[in-house]
Amino acid sequence: MSASLIDPFGRSVSYLRVSVTDRCDFRCVYCMAENMTFLPRQDLLTLEELDRVCSAFIAKGVRKLRLTGGEPLVRKGVMTLVESLSRHLKTGALEELTLTTNGSQLAKYAKELAHHGVKRINVSVDTLDAVKFRKITRWGELSKVLDGIKAAQDAGLHIKINAVALKGVNEHEIPAMMQWCHSQKADLTLIETMPLGDIDGDRTDQYLPLSTVRAQLEGQFTLEDIAYKTGGPARYVRVKETGGRIGFITPLTHNFCESCNRVRLTCTGTLYMCLGQEDAADLRKPLRASESDEVLSRAIDEAISRKPKGHDFIIDRTQLKPAVARHMSVTGG
Ligand code: SAM
Ligand code: SF4
Repeated sequence: MSASLIDPFGRSVSYLRVSVTDRCDFRCVYCMAENMTFLPRQDLLTLEELDRVCSAFIAKGVRKLRLTGGEPLVRKGVMTLVESLSRHLKTGALEELTLTTNGSQLAKYAKELAHHGVKRINVSVDTLDAVKFRKITRWGELSKVLDGIKAAQDAGLHIKINAVALKGVNEHEIPAMMQWCHSQKADLTLIETMPLGDIDGDRTDQYLPLSTVRAQLEGQFTLEDIAYKTGGPARYVRVKETGGRIGFITPLTHNFCESCNRVRLTCTGTLYMCLGQEDAADLRKPLRASESDEVLSRAIDEAISRKPKGHDFIIDRTQLKPAVARHMSVTGG
C-alpha cells in the first residue's frame, strides 16, 4: 500500500472524519428537520467494517481520526470501535483519535474514552440558557450536557466547545459563552451555518457572518491573531483579557479549502472528498468484495484522485435549495 494520500492539488490527506451514525438524540434546528428519514439500518457498515476502512486509511498515512455523526455516542457498541481503533494510537500509526459530540451521553462514556487514549473532544453547545438550548436542539437538555462536560473534564479529557453562530438567537450571548469556556480552560470555536440538507425553516434567517461576531467581540476584548492550529479549518485568536483562545470557522465569509487535508466517510461506507460537493465514492462494495484490503486500497486512491478543489457554498435568498442535499449528520460535521 502507498504510504500517503496526495490529491490532484498537491494536498496531503491526513485526516479522516467518520460519521458512525446519521441518527441523533437531538434535532438541532440548523442541522435537521424534526422528522428525519435516516439511512436504512441494513445499509450500515458494521463496527468491524468501520474499523477496517479506518485502518486502511491509517495504513495510507491518515494520522488523525474523528468520530462524528449524527451523534456518535448513540451508535450501539461505539466503544468497541473506539477500543479497537486505539491500537493504532499504541503503535504510533495514529496521532489522534477524537470525537465531536453533543455531550448528552458523555457522563456515561467519558472515562472509557479517556481509557482508550482519547485526549480531547469537541462538544457542541450553542447556548448556556436552558430554555434556548431546548429551542435550538428541540430535544436536548442543557443540564445533561453540562454534567457530561464535567465528567469529561474529571476524566482528564480536554474540551473544545463548538457553537454555531445564529442570528438573533445566541448572537448576544457569545461574549458570555467565551468567558465561560475560558473559565473552564476550554477553547471556543464558532461556526457559520452551512447550507446542508433541508431543515424546517429558512437558513438566511439563521446565518450570522462571523466577521460581524468578531467585530462585536473586538468592541469589548483584545483579539490577537495566533498561528495555533488543530488540524481543522478554524483560525484562532487569543483573547488578551481571558488568556483563552477563540476559533472561527468561516466557510462562507472566508474560504479555507486551499489547506483542506480531510475526507469524510459516512456510516454506509460512502466517502465524500468535500463537505460541500455531491461527488462521492462507494467504499462499501470494494470493502465487501474481498477479505484482503487491496481492492479497498485502490478504491481509496481512486477517490482521492477526484478530491475537488473546494466548495461553492452561498447563502442568499435567491438560493432556495440547500447547496448540498444531504444533511451535516450524514457526512459528519
Ligand atoms: N452530534 C454531534 C455534535 O452535535 O457535536 C456531532 C455531529 S454535528 C453534525 C457536528 C457539528 O456540526 C456540530 O458542532 C454542529 O453544530 C455542526 N453543524 C450541524 N449542522 C450544521 C450546519 N448546517 N452548519 C454549520 N454547522 C453545522
Ligand atoms: Fe444532532 Fe449534532 Fe445535528 Fe445537533 S448538530 S442534530 S446534536 S447531529
